[in-house]
Amino acid sequence: MKCTLWLAVGLLVAGPLAAEPFSEEDLAVARELREAALAGDGGYEIVADLTTRIGPRLAGSEADARAVEWAVQMFEGMGFDRVWTEPATFPTWHRGLERTEIVSPARHELVTLALGFSPATPKGGIEAEVAMFEDLAALQEADPAEVADRIVFIRNRMERTRTGAGYGRAVGARSVGSRVAAEKGALALVIRSIGTSNNRFAHTGMQRFDSDVRLLPAVAISNPDADLLERLMAGDEPVRIQVEVDAETVESYTSQNVFAEITGSGKPGEIVAIGAHLDSWDVGTGAIDDGAGVAIVTEAARLIGNLDRRPDRSIRVILFAAEEIGLWGGRAWVRAREAQMDKYQFVAESDFGAGRAYAISARVSDAAWPVIAAIQEELEPLGIELGERSASGGPDFSPALRYGVAAVDLEQDGTEYFDYHHTVNDTLDKIEPDALAQNAAAYAVLAWLGAQAPMGFGSGRTILEEESTD
Ligand SMILES: [Zn+2]
Repeated sequence: MKCTLWLAVGLLVAGPLAAEPFSEEDLAVARELREAALAGDGGYEIVADLTTRIGPRLAGSEADARAVEWAVQMFEGMGFDRVWTEPATFPTWHRGLERTEIVSPARHELVTLALGFSPATPKGGIEAEVAMFEDLAALQEADPAEVADRIVFIRNRMERTRTGAGYGRAVGARSVGSRVAAEKGALALVIRSIGTSNNRFAHTGMQRFDSDVRLLPAVAISNPDADLLERLMAGDEPVRIQVEVDAETVESYTSQNVFAEITGSGKPGEIVAIGAHLDSWDVGTGAIDDGAGVAIVTEAARLIGNLDRRPDRSIRVILFAAEEIGLWGGRAWVRAREAQMDKYQFVAESDFGAGRAYAISARVSDAAWPVIAAIQEELEPLGIELGERSASGGPDFSPALRYGVAAVDLEQDGTEYFDYHHTVNDTLDKIEPDALAQNAAAYAVLAWLGAQAPMGFGSGRTILEEESTD
């Protein structure tokens, strides 16, 4: 019902063209791609290979370089028209050991991971009384006298949601907790892991990093360990804790964004860009984050590349470098293309695990929205409904939003994603092959029909002008 309504609106806004934007032949190809993706296991083979032969691939590590090699070889083997790399340079960080122990009033060793860019403590660690805060806001409002010479513990718990919205609400404790605690004279930071599991795994992750801001040694502890610490804090006795971190920040490393293209037959200069990030955290094997995304977009493009027909526009797969430690690959990509955003039909990144996609949302011009509605009709058999008229395109493409790039989000069920995210437990068995194939099918339909669409989606000035008059 919703679709019919949008098509009717489209007729009024954009003329008869929008009512049937795709030829029967293009729709038949979309259906063929959808069924081929659902029937195959090409995506699963890709993520199995990446997680097995490469494994964890922290940006700037030796495995990062091997992953770039792996991706280039994979794309070349698949017969893409063009395969190339572009550099991205960034500071990086290496984990040594980490240890968190409650020393009084009862002794407990806690399951711990240091946070990205945590500096090292002196050997033997730092020991101090704990100052506990409800969340980042409470720490920000705290009198420095409550914080100075203490180890700060931020206890906020991430809420489980299908959309993953709980992550955004909780993650500030991790991304800026250490710098806020440092300004108030704290000695170290301990956070409850930003994750939803009640299993005893700690979740690492990024802290916002600028070379001129002082960070404290910072660690995340598992949810059950955070519960334990809270119970002790509720007692009358002061709680003392010891934190030890050994880690090293590296000033500069250059990795590569990896590109593969199916060159369009009609409008080769116009580009549909689908992406994922190739790097991962250094724990687990980066299966759901973001081996799944690598597999989904690669398999979608591989199936399109196998067709007898070329798409009208070019389709580009981009595997970004160094997403986890600060979107460095995405930022390098946009820096090289600020003036060319109007050449992008749209961008879409898969970076939310392998849960089923349930909605398509898009940031496109008013005139192009009926085309998105028509694409959704071909996604309907996959259980994907029409979503919002806004989209970010995913983390690596997000730096391009301010240049008005059109973006599409295939929104995935993230109910369980944050049980495993950034933990040693992010491994291949967490991926359900059928759900991965459903995503590959959705990306194949989206990329194909996006490349065949009768109109541009409005990247560049059109979107910015329409947004400014909203
Ligand atoms: Zn990711």
